[in-house]
Amino acid sequence: MICIYYFPCSVFLFVNLMCLYSSSVPGRVRVAVRLRPRNAEESVADADFADCVELQPEFKRLKLRKNNWDTDTYEFDEVLTEFASQKRVYEVVAKPVVESVLDGYNGTVMAYGQTGTGKTYTLGRLGEEDTADRGIIVRAMEDILADVSLESDSVSVSYLQLYMESLQDLLDPTNDNISIVEDPKSGDVSLPGATLVEIRDQQSFLELLQLGEAHRYAANTRLNTESSRSHALLMVHVKRSVKGRELAHSIQNGNSNNIAKSLRPTLVRKGKLVVVDLAGSERIDKSGSEGHTLEEAKSINLSLSALGKCINALAENSAHVPVRDSKLTRLLRDSFGGTARTSLVITIGPSPRHRGETTSTIMFGQRAMKVENMLKLKEEFDYKSLARKLDIQLDKLIMEHERKQKAFEEEIERITTDTQNQISEAERNYADAMEKERLKYQKDYMESIKKLEEKWMMNQHKLGERKDQTASTAQEVAELKKLLSKETSLRKAVEEEVNNLKSQLAQLKMSEASANSESLKLRKMLEDEEYRKEKLEGEISMLQTQLLQLSFEADETRRRLDRGGPGKVPGDLDSLISQVRPQVNDSVNEEKASIANLFEQVGLQKILSLLEAEDADVRIHAVKVVANLAAEESNQQKIVEAGGLTSLLLLLGSSENETIHRVAAGAIANLAMNETNQELIMSEGGIRLLSITAANAEDPQTLRMVAGAIANLCGNGKLLDLFGFHLQQSSTSPLPSPDKLQNKLRGEGGIKALLGMVKCGHPDVLAQVARGIANFAKCESRASAQGSKTGRSLLIEDGALPWIVQNANNDASPIRRHIELAVCHLAQHEVNARDMITGGALWELVRISQDCSREDIRTLAHRTLTSSPTFLAELRRLRIDY
Ligand code: ADP
Ligand code: MG
Repeated sequence: MICIYYFPCSVFLFVNLMCLYSSSVPGRVRVAVRLRPRNAEESVADADFADCVELQPEFKRLKLRKNNWDTDTYEFDEVLTEFASQKRVYEVVAKPVVESVLDGYNGTVMAYGQTGTGKTYTLGRLGEEDTADRGIIVRAMEDILADVSLESDSVSVSYLQLYMESLQDLLDPTNDNISIVEDPKSGDVSLPGATLVEIRDQQSFLELLQLGEAHRYAANTRLNTESSRSHALLMVHVKRSVKGRELAHSIQNGNSNNIAKSLRPTLVRKGKLVVVDLAGSERIDKSGSEGHTLEEAKSINLSLSALGKCINALAENSAHVPVRDSKLTRLLRDSFGGTARTSLVITIGPSPRHRGETTSTIMFGQRAMKVENMLKLKEEFDYKSLARKLDIQLDKLIMEHERKQKAFEEEIERITTDTQNQISEAERNYADAMEKERLKYQKDYMESIKKLEEKWMMNQHKLGERKDQTASTAQEVAELKKLLSKETSLRKAVEEEVNNLKSQLAQLKMSEASANSESLKLRKMLEDEEYRKEKLEGEISMLQTQLLQLSFEADETRRRLDRGGPGKVPGDLDSLISQVRPQVNDSVNEEKASIANLFEQVGLQKILSLLEAEDADVRIHAVKVVANLAAEESNQQKIVEAGGLTSLLLLLGSSENETIHRVAAGAIANLAMNETNQELIMSEGGIRLLSITAANAEDPQTLRMVAGAIANLCGNGKLLDLFGFHLQQSSTSPLPSPDKLQNKLRGEGGIKALLGMVKCGHPDVLAQVARGIANFAKCESRASAQGSKTGRSLLIEDGALPWIVQNANNDASPIRRHIELAVCHLAQHEVNARDMITGGALWELVRISQDCSREDIRTLAHRTLTSSPTFLAELRRLRIDY
């Protein structure tokens, strides 16, 4: 079914927008008729009678029976039969009005009819038992609350009762005479004295209605009246702020800047829904029909009759509408002939017995349908809230301004302080710089003045000097001139002398040439003579040697013959000597005497000269004799002084005969016991010669001699008491320092030569090598103790340590003993300790300290070991309990 009140949304929107800018639109009062079903009493009483009305809802018509044959037909905006549901009644009667109110219009829903026909049923049922029974008021509030936003909108309610022209507040019973205030300009009616309760939810609204109803019941009891004689008015104020409109409005005004926007007040729409449950209309009839006076009418119901009159006037377009005649008409001024959308439901009963009241009601409805209202949008700008908003904003701005002002002042103060500081700093700097500059200039000035003064003084001085110079120069020139003339005359004299000499020289040269040839001849003769002499001398010396030998042999033979002993005559000097020795053993003096005898007979010089004899045999004999002589300490110095040592060394180098080598080396060994000789041997390349000899030797005895010689060189005379070599008597000549000799010995390759000889393996040779090493170690140890030697042992440097370790426990006791001593000497110096540990010498030292057969060496080893922190640390490290 199409609702006649219902405008499509777009039409509403259009109307709303128009309302903003146009004054109003026409809107007739809509009237619906509702028939109450027969109640129990009527069902009985009117059982035989038909209803007084017949409804044709499809035609929106109502037929009223005048009598059995005649009916009057009336048309209404809506015809609601006794079967119409509460929901449908709400939707056709009230819903369009509610929607209008939500859109910002005033609206009125009013029920008019005879008491008992269902006005209160239609409007005020709460529907607590059955929600389908809910009346218009409850449903209207539901729709309103569903549509508004509780944040931006508000819904508030007043509930009043009008009885006998007194307006009572049903929400505050003490307030029983509320005055109606009309705005003279707009004619708007308001009730400033009425309680206005803000509604937030449906439940609180229902409770409020119940409270109002209770108050109404109490008031009526107190006043001894009935509710049917009073009008109940519910006023619902809906205030909504419009947002969507703002944009349209701004664009329309061509003003979209933000300030204007913030200054623009919120657009507010205020709709007021008035629901009126009128007193029973039967009273009107009574007042009218029974001709009551005004007072009587008042007592019956002035307001209701005044409403009827106004509706009549409005329906007839009468010039005068007596609105002011009653409070009800004043209150409903806007609902009839005003700006509100008004919907009237007239309620009728079916009983033919009340046809009069029913007719009168229908007529009221018919007239009301003719009343035209001009619907007007109640839209206004919310200047109050705008003002509040602006106040808040202004406060904020003032605070912000004050804050900024304060910050600005602080900033200014800071900048001022900073600037002042900077200025005073700059002033200080400037003053300092000025002072510095002034001092500098002052200093420069003083210096320049000083320099100028010095220059001036110098110039003065030079000026004086120059004057002196001029005088002396003249004098010098005169002197030079004199000298020059003297020189010239001298030169002339010299030139003459030179010429003279030149002529003399020419003469001399001539005489020299003749003398030269003479002298050449003489020189030749002299050379021949010398050659001959030499040859003869050689022969003589050979003959002398042979003579020496023969006389020696003859002596021996004679002696043997004298003693009558057997034996053959020895073939050579060597064997002769060797044979002589054992026999003279018992008498050393005798042997010495025989050698001394030899000296005297032949002469040392002569013997030594035989060392260079061409004949090899002579050389061999001579070297043997020299060797024997050298074995005598008393001869040694003489031999050396006579150049014997040098000759022996030369012989080592020049001869290829191994016997000569062996015997010469032995002689050198004996001579090498003296430090002076040692130095001589070394200075004449002795070590080198001995080394070469060793390298070429095949006979171990040759090596033994060479090794013995080097071994002697290795030690100091005082120490050479180890291997049958005699102790050298302390020399009167200053000795070279031992470490110097050692360095030299080592530098000449002595140690290397010794070590080179061990490969022959002969125990005698090894024993000599061991002795040499022991000597060397001992001397080195002494030098270290004196502090003249630092750094590790030269023996270690030259790689002797492995051989030492290898032979420290040699089976041959001479070798072992020397090596044991060498180990002890090396160990006495911490600087050697590390190498000895890595080379394994520590174990030998330990062994010597425990096992050595010689107690003195054992003690020495023990002492050495226990006084070395390095050895002790190593033993600790290896957890060896020593
Ligand atoms: P009024 O307010 O006009 O004096 P009420 O609303 O008090 O009338 O109704 C009188 C009686 O009729 C109540 O008992 C009510 O329940 C009942 N009544 C009224 N209208 C209807 C209806 N349409 N359907 C059923 N009962 C109704
Ligand atoms: Mg009622």
